[in-house]
Amino acid sequence: MKTSTDVIVVGAGNAALSAAIAAQEQGAQVTVLERAPESESGGNSRYAAGAFRFIFNDAQDIINLVPDLTTDEIQKTDFGSYSAQRYFDDLYQVTRYRTDPDLCEVLVSQSHDTMKWLRGKGVRFTPIWGRSAIKRDGRFIFTGELTLDAWGGGEGLIAAEKKAALQSGVNILYETGAMDLLSDGNRIIGVRTQGPQGTQEIHAKSVVLACGGFEANTEWRTRYLGPGWELAKVRGSRFNNGDGIRMALDLGAMPTGHWSWCHSVCWDNHAPPTGDLSVGDAFQKFSYPYSVMINSTGRRFVDEGMDMRIKTYSKMGRIILSQPDQFAWQIFDSKVVPLLRDEYRIKRVTKVTAATLEELASKLDGVDAQSFLDEIKSFNAAVDTTTPFDPQVKDGRGTKGLSVPKSNWAQTIDQGPFEAYQVGCGITFTFGGLAISPATSQVLDTANKPIEGLYAAGEMVGGLFYFGYPGGSGLMAGSVFGRNAGLHAAQSAIA
Ligand SMILES: Cc1cc2nc3c(=O)[nH]c(=O)nc-3n(C[C@H](O)[C@H](O)[C@H](O)COP(=O)(O)OP(=O)(O)OC[C@H]3O[C@@H](n4cnc5c(N)ncnc54)[C@H](O)[C@@H]3O)c2cc1C
Repeated sequence: MKTSTDVIVVGAGNAALSAAIAAQEQGAQVTVLERAPESESGGNSRYAAGAFRFIFNDAQDIINLVPDLTTDEIQKTDFGSYSAQRYFDDLYQVTRYRTDPDLCEVLVSQSHDTMKWLRGKGVRFTPIWGRSAIKRDGRFIFTGELTLDAWGGGEGLIAAEKKAALQSGVNILYETGAMDLLSDGNRIIGVRTQGPQGTQEIHAKSVVLACGGFEANTEWRTRYLGPGWELAKVRGSRFNNGDGIRMALDLGAMPTGHWSWCHSVCWDNHAPPTGDLSVGDAFQKFSYPYSVMINSTGRRFVDEGMDMRIKTYSKMGRIILSQPDQFAWQIFDSKVVPLLRDEYRIKRVTKVTAATLEELASKLDGVDAQSFLDEIKSFNAAVDTTTPFDPQVKDGRGTKGLSVPKSNWAQTIDQGPFEAYQVGCGITFTFGGLAISPATSQVLDTANKPIEGLYAAGEMVGGLFYFGYPGGSGLMAGSVFGRNAGLHAAQSAIA
């Protein structure tokens, strides 16, 4: 095995492969270190649905990114637009104005160009007609926020990026985890690895850390997110244990961001402890705005219809984890069952059906049955049946007089057969991480000075997401900052 190269990239997810491709593009010799075996490589990016959030002006911008769209597809779709101002507003709103403005500026302003760059490297995109568009009078109408998925989702994205990296000459070492950074006292000079050959040192002029957050590390989750988080299920890779963050902090890097927060969703309560690529993201259960959710006491505990799903889904896991017994049942009346997303129709699902509410109450494992029946009765009496139900917009059809209101999409639960799905908390990724220089992705030390030779990108960077996260910005941030990290790491290495 070679023991020196120009640039080492740690990780083989979207941020890492973006960095590797960009570094190789500059003429640097690049080695990617991936802790997972090849069959499980690709990190959380491989589990992702594949949505990218980026700015664009009009349909022509989308057509340029998806040149294989047919005339019919173009004619029946209103792609809308997504301005930089809206992207900023969305980021600021969901992060409660905590997001780092300089990181935001880079993410937003480089998002479109990075999409074009990815497309140029062979990543194909497809409009998210099924999950993101509203259908009206036979036309698909996008709001602009989430318009394109990588073709083939996260699997397709990673396959395309890996192909581009290998074709350009990047060397990928699987089952080779980075353990420590090597420093000569002035700059980073390489990485100590653990792999099939045991412990080794690989020297490099620059190192890009892109090896994820700490969501798969139960001890760190409990330490930083708080008691109970060791019980969350990991939606994606089992390999993201905070190694990159730890290595950099050991060398004086500055931690930043929302360390006690993360992205977490409604996830099948009996899903395995970490992600399963054969199921992917289908353990998620995202039709909760049309449900009532009850906990083990039989009571509702959250406004299921507080906002559009894309604005609320990433905090639902946390809310469920804080319930007694850490689970909830999503209850659907037959009026809304046809609206359930595809993920409700998989084989590995914790589901019960019943013809009557009494039968349902007896089947809801772990729930106080009488209290559940009382709760549904009070809920049904509070539903505003005068406002029309419209699942495609915030319809304002809410409840009146409940201590836990439902603000939109309220439907009485009285028409069987009923379906119920048991969900727990699925953690997606953590928000705390390393401080980087926004323009170059260079890791900053505790004096706010760049650490020579060290760059970071992706989930392990802190400061961008607080409290919430606008869907599709995880992959976009990984590609924008990964590309920048690779570019600057290579330029510094071959200067
Ligand atoms: C189910 C699911 C669905 C999602 N859907 C979307 C979506 O549609 N749109 C979106 O924007 N985001 C989505 N996300 C979030 C998105 O996947 C992440 O934000 C993004 O993939 C993070 O990319 P990354 O490259 O930073 O990390 P990852 O893709 O997780 O890559 C980290 C890599 O580092 C490797 N690694 C870890 N430790 C070491 C070590 N010590 N040495 C070497 N390698 C190491 C891992 O094996 C892995 O390959 C989703 C996430 C999940 C789990």
